[in-house]
Amino acid sequence: MIHDRSHALFARAAELLPGGVNSPVRAFKSVGGEPFFAARALGPHLFDVDGNRYIDYVGSWGPMIAGHAHPQVLDAVARTMRDGLSFGVPNALEVEMAEAISRIVPSMEMLRMVNSGTEATLSAIRVARGATGRSRIVKFEGCYHGHGDSFLVKAGSGALTFGLPNSPGVPKALADLTLTLPYNDFDAATALFDEVGEEIAGLIIEPIVGNANCILPREGYLQHLRDLCTRHGALLIFDEVMTGFRVALGGAQQRYGITPDLSTFGKIIGGGMPVGAYGGRRDLMRQVAPSGPIYQAGTLSGNPVAMAAGLATLELIQAPGFHAALEAGTNALCDGLEAIAREAGVAFHTTRAPAMFGLYFREGPVETFEDSAASDPKRFGRFFHAMLDRGVYLAPSAFEAGFMSSAHGEAEIAQTLEAARGAFAEVAA
Ligand code: PLP
Repeated sequence: MIHDRSHALFARAAELLPGGVNSPVRAFKSVGGEPFFAARALGPHLFDVDGNRYIDYVGSWGPMIAGHAHPQVLDAVARTMRDGLSFGVPNALEVEMAEAISRIVPSMEMLRMVNSGTEATLSAIRVARGATGRSRIVKFEGCYHGHGDSFLVKAGSGALTFGLPNSPGVPKALADLTLTLPYNDFDAATALFDEVGEEIAGLIIEPIVGNANCILPREGYLQHLRDLCTRHGALLIFDEVMTGFRVALGGAQQRYGITPDLSTFGKIIGGGMPVGAYGGRRDLMRQVAPSGPIYQAGTLSGNPVAMAAGLATLELIQAPGFHAALEAGTNALCDGLEAIAREAGVAFHTTRAPAMFGLYFREGPVETFEDSAASDPKRFGRFFHAMLDRGVYLAPSAFEAGFMSSAHGEAEIAQTLEAARGAFAEVAA
C-alpha cells in the first residue's frame, strides 16, 4: 500500500499539532508507524488520501453504528443546515432529542445536551457533588471518562489509596478526591464503601469497559454497585458514552437491568457530530441551572445540525432487529478470529457485547484490568499492521474496544477473516 500523501500530511501536521493529531490515540503511538489521513468514508469503509480502502472497525470511535455517511443522516444534516448552523436560542430538535433519549432510556427522566462525552461526565460528577454535598468520587482502574481532571487518576496500590494524577497538570488536591477501585472486584467495592461510603458523592463506571480493551461485568457486579450506592447515599453514574444505544437499544442499563441515578452519553447520539448528554433522576437534574443552582452551560449545546444527525441515527437504530443483527455479526467475526488463531497456533481470545469487541493476544478468560493488561502488546501491534496492510482498520491500540456497524455485512466479515488468516500466520511466525 502506498501512503505518500498521508506521510506528507503527517509531516505538516507534526509541525503544528502535538504529535500530529487532535486526539492522542490517532497517532498510532502504541502500535508504531504513522496514521493514514482519511479522505472520505462510506458504509463500512474508510478511504485514505492515497486511495486505499479499509474495512473500518473503529467507526470514528463509536458514533458510526449505522455505517459512515448513511444517506438518511446526511439528508437530515443537509436539510437542517440550510436553515442556519446555530441559533443560540432553543430549537425544536433539542426537544425531539430529549424526548427520544428519555423514551429509549427511561432512567433519563430529565437531561441536558452538551458537546462531548467529556463534558457529559464532568457535568454528571458536578451534579453528584452538588446534590449530595459530598466531594469524593469513585472510578475504576482502566475506565476512561474523558479528559476531565478528576478522571485522569490511576489506582494506587489499594482501593483506599488516594489517587495519583497520571497527567501533569492535574492538581494533587483534586486527584485526592478520586478513589479508584479494581473493576469486577466485589469485595474491594464493599470495603471502600464500608470505610468512606458516607463521603462518596458518586461512583462512575463504564458498565462494560471499552477503554481497557473490552471487559464485561461479572454476574451481579453492577447490581452489587447499585446496592452499595443506595445503602450509602452515593449516586450511581453509568458512563454509557460508549455502550449507550450500542449493546442494546437502551444501552448497558437495559442489557443488565440496572437503573443508575445519572447516565452519560455521547458518540451515537451525535451520529458523527460533536454531541454528549447527561441526565437521570428528575429530582437531581432539576438542580441544574437555570432551574437549580448547579451551574453548567454551553454556547453550541443542542446545536440543530448535530441534533439532526443524532436523531436520524437514533431512528435508524430503532429498526426491528437492528441490535440482534449487530450481535450476530460481532459473534461471527469474533468466533471466526478465534478459530483462525487456533489453527495458526496463536494464543488469542475475544470478548464481546453486541457491536463491541475486545481482541486479546493471550488465553482467556479476561475479567479484570490485570487480565486485560496482560495481553501481548507487541503481538497486537504486529497483528494490527498485518491487518492494515490487508485493508482492515482495527483500533490502533491494544486498550481500545473494536466496533461493528450495521453496514458490516457478511462480505466484509468474510474479507476480514480472510485478512486475519494471513495476519495470524505473520504473527505466529
Ligand atoms: N466516556 C467514555 C466511556 C468514553 O469512551 C469516552 C471517549 O471515548 C468519553 C467518556 C469521552 O468522550 P469524548 O471523547 O467525546 O469527550
